[in-house]
Amino acid sequence: MNCVVCREAQTVRGFSSIRFERDEFRAVVHQVPAQICPACGESYLDEVTTADLLKRVEQILEEGEMDIVQDYV
Ligand SMILES: [Zn+2]
Repeated sequence: MNCVVCREAQTVRGFSSIRFERDEFRAVVHQVPAQICPACGESYLDEVTTADLLKRVEQILEEGEMDIVQDYV
């Protein structure tokens, strides 16, 4: 797809790190499959990946951990 942020390049398949913050809670998930713009670095997740990530973060929240770094597998 064409990058909608800079409109200068086609995105390429790669991996991104996604960060969530809510009050005291922080989670970072690395190695998330995404489309990356080689020109500006914007990353795009597909709907399935986004839904899965949100579910995962909700689960971490429920467990009450505050500062999580994990890989998306
Ligand atoms: Zn771009």
